[in-house]
Amino acid sequence: MSYLMPPRVPRKVDLPPRQALHAGATQVLVVGGGPAGIGAAIGAANAGAEVVLVERYGFLGGNATAALVMPLMSFHNEVKQAVAGDTARLLPPDHGEGEPVVGGVLWVLLDQLVRRGAAIRPSLETGYTVPFDPELFKLVVYELLINHEVRTLLHSFASDVLSLPDRVRAVFETKSGPLVMDADVIVDCTGDGDIAAAAGASYDIGRPEDGWTQPMSLMFRMVRFDHEEFAAYTRAHPDQWRGVHGLWDLVRAATDAGELDLPREDVLFFATPNSGEVAVNSTRVTEVLGTSVWDLTRAEFTAHHQMAQIARFLRERVPGFADSYVVQSGVQVGVRETRRIVGEYQLTGDDVLTARKFEDAVARGAYPVDIHNPSGRGTLLKRVPRGESYDIPLRCLIPQGVDRILVAGRCISGDHVAHSSYRVMPISMATGQAAGVCAALAATQRRQPRDVPVSAVQRALRAQGASLL
Ligand SMILES: Cc1cc2nc3c(=O)[nH]c(=O)nc-3n(C[C@H](O)[C@H](O)[C@H](O)COP(=O)(O)OP(=O)(O)OC[C@H]3O[C@@H](n4cnc5c(N)ncnc54)[C@H](O)[C@@H]3O)c2cc1C
Repeated sequence: MSYLMPPRVPRKVDLPPRQALHAGATQVLVVGGGPAGIGAAIGAANAGAEVVLVERYGFLGGNATAALVMPLMSFHNEVKQAVAGDTARLLPPDHGEGEPVVGGVLWVLLDQLVRRGAAIRPSLETGYTVPFDPELFKLVVYELLINHEVRTLLHSFASDVLSLPDRVRAVFETKSGPLVMDADVIVDCTGDGDIAAAAGASYDIGRPEDGWTQPMSLMFRMVRFDHEEFAAYTRAHPDQWRGVHGLWDLVRAATDAGELDLPREDVLFFATPNSGEVAVNSTRVTEVLGTSVWDLTRAEFTAHHQMAQIARFLRERVPGFADSYVVQSGVQVGVRETRRIVGEYQLTGDDVLTARKFEDAVARGAYPVDIHNPSGRGTLLKRVPRGESYDIPLRCLIPQGVDRILVAGRCISGDHVAHSSYRVMPISMATGQAAGVCAALAATQRRQPRDVPVSAVQRALRAQGASLL
C-alpha cells in the first residue's frame, strides 16, 4: 500500500472560470459545525440574528464526533485536591473540587446529553471531564439547532471567500456543484481558520522554533472491556496507572518485543457513558501539518497502522482487554493544531499561566497548558493557578485587517502555548458563543464586528448564561 506524495516540483495551472448557484443570504453565516460552530450558531440565534450553519461532513460535532474526541475536557477551576477512588480510576489525575468557568450553550448541550443518558454530568468524581456518546451527541446537536431555528447545510466544503461592498460571500464545493452564500458576517469555526486565511488574514502555525504543530491522533472506541479486571491490575500496580494513562512497563515490554512502534511511552484512554467501553487516545503521528493534504493522507495511513498495533497490545498484554475489539475509529485522524489567525490581540502562554484578566473578556478558560510533543515522546502539562481562570478577550476573535469575519474555536488568535489550553471543546464552545453574539450584533446594528461595543457583547453573553467575571 502506498500514498501519493507531493509533486517534487510544484507547478500551478489555471482553471476555467465557472458559475456557482446562489444559495441565498443570511445575517450570520457560521462555517464549521464543531463545538465552536455549535456555540456560534446558537449564540447568534439567541442574540436575534438569522443564522445559517454550513458543515463539510454529513453530521455535526466536529472533533467530538468526526474524530471521536471524547470526553469534554474539564472546564472547572480546581479549588481543592480530590481523593481518587475506584470510580475515578479512568479519570484525569490531580483533579480537585472546582467551579465551572464556561456556561451558556455548553450547559444547554450538557443538560440534553445527560437527560438522554448520553453524558455523565461533570462532578468531582469524574474529575469534571464529561464522557459522552458521540452518536447521541450528533442527535442532540440537530435538535438544538432546529429549536433555535438555525438553518443548516451539510456536505458543503468552504473553498473561498469574496469581499462584496457591503457583504461577504462564501464559496462552497458540493455534490450540487459550486454554490455561494452571502452574509453580513461570517464566523469561521473551521478549526483551521480556512475562511479567515482565504480572506487574507495573517496566521501562525506551530511552535516558534521549527513550526511543528502538536501531533495528530486517530481515536477509536473499544468494547467488551472488563473494568473490574483492569481496576484489579492497577490496584496491584499503583505505579503503572495515573488516572487516564500509564502502563509504562507493559508498553516497554511490547516495544522491546517489536509489537509496538509508537512515539509515546504510555497508553491513554478514557471511560465513556457506556459500560464496557473505552475511548483510546494513543496513536501519535508527529511532524505532520493539518493544512497539507499530503501530510493528512500520510497521517491516516500511519495512524491506522498504529491503531491495529495498540488494539492487539491491549488484547494480548493488558488485563481487562482480552475480549475487547475496536468498534469504531474516527472518520478522520484528529488534528490538534493548525492555523492560529492573528487577531487584534494574541493570547500568550503567560496570560494563561498567570490567569490574566482583560476588560474585553468574552470567554474564560481554566484548562492546563497541554502540549503533546510535536516531534517525539512526552507531553508538557502546566496548570493554571488553582482556583483561577484566564480571560479570552474579544480582540482574539477579530482577525487583524479583515472585515466582516470573526474566528472562534481552536483557530483564534494566540501563541502555541496558549493554544494548547484554549483549544479544548468547552472553551471552543465558549469562544464560539462569544463570536456568534458579536456577529449577530454587528449584523443587526450594521457595523463591523470590531466596532460593536464590547460591553454590549458581554451583556448579551451574560443574558445567555455565559460565564464571565
Ligand atoms: C486527538 C485529539 C484529542 C483531543 N482530546 C480532547 C479531549 O479529550 N477533550 C477536549 O475537550 N478536547 C480535546 N481535543 C481538542 C478538541 O477536540 C478541539 O480542539 C476542538 O474540537 C476544537 O473545536 P472547533 O470547533 O474549533 O474545531 P473542530 O472540532 O475541528 O470543528 C471544526 C468543524 O469545521 C468543519 N470544517 C473544517 N473545515 C471546513 C471547511 N473548509 N468547510 C466547511 N466545514 C469545515 C469540520 O468538519 C468540523 O466539523 C482533542 C483534539 C484531538 C485532535
